[in-house]
Amino acid sequence: MQPESLMMTAGYDKEWSQGAIKCPIFQTSTFVFNKAEEGKAFFEVAYGLREKDAAENVGLIYSRLNNPNVEILEDRLKIWDAAEDCACFNSGMSAISTVFFEFLKPGSLFVYSAPIYGGTHHFIQHVLTAFGIEGIPFGPNDTKDDILQKINAHPLKDHMKMIYVETPANPTNHLFSLRMCSEIAKGLSKDENKVLLVVDNTYMGPIWQHPLELGADLVIYSATKYIAGHSDLIAGAVSGSKQLIQRVKVLRTFFGNLPSPNTGWLLMRSLETMKIRMEQQQANAKLIAQYLSKHPKVAKVYYLGLLEKGTAQWDIFNEQCKGEGAMLSFDIVGGEKEAFAFLNHLKLIQLAVSLGSTESLAEHPATMTHIDIPENEKKIMNITSSLVRLSVGVEHADDLIADIEKALEKV
Ligand SMILES: *Cc1c(COP(=O)(O)O)cnc(C)c1O
Repeated sequence: MQPESLMMTAGYDKEWSQGAIKCPIFQTSTFVFNKAEEGKAFFEVAYGLREKDAAENVGLIYSRLNNPNVEILEDRLKIWDAAEDCACFNSGMSAISTVFFEFLKPGSLFVYSAPIYGGTHHFIQHVLTAFGIEGIPFGPNDTKDDILQKINAHPLKDHMKMIYVETPANPTNHLFSLRMCSEIAKGLSKDENKVLLVVDNTYMGPIWQHPLELGADLVIYSATKYIAGHSDLIAGAVSGSKQLIQRVKVLRTFFGNLPSPNTGWLLMRSLETMKIRMEQQQANAKLIAQYLSKHPKVAKVYYLGLLEKGTAQWDIFNEQCKGEGAMLSFDIVGGEKEAFAFLNHLKLIQLAVSLGSTESLAEHPATMTHIDIPENEKKIMNITSSLVRLSVGVEHADDLIADIEKALEKV
């Protein structure tokens, strides 16, 4: 069956809950073992002391390690990336920070795509460096040779552990080739030191891009965005091989960043409609991008459906994306004053950060989500004072365009 069909029932047995069609919320902190031997066996597996036997049914222990709502959620979420396993978290940032801490150690080197999500950028610059873990940024125009040169010029080059990529990049939709990154990771890997390719797929996933198919080892989500899709919770997820996810889950136990049963339950609700929401959002975004690209008060639109044929970016898009997504940004003619006039006159589209939800959202990256980035870097990344970012929701496209039209009239 296709993933959208499996979202209704996968991982849940109605016999557990008196025939309830929906999985109830298992609001409990701890679980009773039938026998002491059972408790021992569960702990051995949970702490990674031994692998689970094929036929073994590993039960629940304590809701910081596992909980039915979270486990069923993981069983469903992994289906979208055809992953062996998935680990859910109480935020996208806790998924990201747990992956960094599990696979990097003091003295490790990694490379990462830039621009990158602001929280990830801060974590790399201020937290990882304090632990002696160093990251080298690379941009959308860097070639394989450029990236290899940066690694080879670094004193920690023999401790290279990870390539961390976010594509398309926020807020301008610049693409990074996952094939190229996978080639670099494979080329640098040795038997005793595998270089991991980790992809933050929040912007495109899990529908419009499948990094594991393209050679990634781990795929990360802020489940707060498209997966939850209703602006009512914060959560994260990591999918990949059983072996890597087991390591991530062990560290999650000790960081204590599993989502609550209630969050797990809400995300299962969201997964049932995720695909149709995302398809409607994408269809709306396409119409809005076309409208904006013809408007005299709009200087430039950054949208994957408007990439110029024959360019390197267009090639990457065709190789790795299954859709244009529902995020776009545009330069309004003018600067901050004009951008703010537009934002202040929107009525249906709400002025807020975050993305991927049912309601459309607009924000000003230069002074909001990307305020932390130094001016010269903002320039390189095209984050100008006239740039506005839109996350397109499921409202009627005519109403969204009318709202944009009225707000542009006030500029
Ligand atoms: C929002 C976001 C994050 C962080 O996720 P939270 O759920 O807010 O912790 C990470 N990466 C990207 C691309 C995001 O948009």
